[in-house]
Amino acid sequence: MKKETYFGVDVSPLNYEEIIVDLQKRMERNEKSTIIAVNPEKVIKAEENEELKQLINSSTYQIPDGIGILLASKLKGGSISSRVTGVDMMDRLLQFAAQSGYKVFLYGAKEEVVVKAKQNIEAKYPNINISGYENGYVQDVNLVLDKINQAQADLLFVAMGSPKQELWIKENMNKTNVRVFQGVGGSFDVFAG
Ligand code: UDP
Repeated sequence: MKKETYFGVDVSPLNYEEIIVDLQKRMERNEKSTIIAVNPEKVIKAEENEELKQLINSSTYQIPDGIGILLASKLKGGSISSRVTGVDMMDRLLQFAAQSGYKVFLYGAKEEVVVKAKQNIEAKYPNINISGYENGYVQDVNLVLDKINQAQADLLFVAMGSPKQELWIKENMNKTNVRVFQGVGGSFDVFAG
């Protein structure tokens, strides 16, 4: 996949369906994938923060979650013509997990929010297997990792705000058997309604 670069930040040109097709192949090869949402605020922050830039560029998919990226792509003659938002990407992945039998873990937000989000997702996708969840205010990382591994999760959504969630993913992704990681910001609040 040929990425487009804006102020040193890579952006993936794939749409929802293309990401899921690619992701499924990577899962079958047992490769880990990370999804990060890119918007103009992050691009600006990354310009003066090399660590953040590396974090974004080392992700598998940098989704164009913001109208500013579309505009920049159009001006540059690029091919990014539609938004891929973090919350919609999560929703598509939940649907994919429900259809494919992959297990999902929800990590982040306040306890009542993650519980409600789980209930609403289960109501929307009756076949889904949300094999575990944890709120985003637990101090003991090892406890969370144990839960994720016991749940044998295939996809992990981390909702702790950016870049905290992405830093957590980078730090811990190889300590789990999870194959797909997405930092989703306030998306659990959206699913909780
Ligand atoms: N959050 C969390 N742990 C923390 C800080 C934040 O679980 O230590 C949660 C918070 O409850 C909220 C989400 O992270 O559900 C933050 O969403 P926000 O909209 O701020 O993230 P953004 O989309 O702006 O990155």
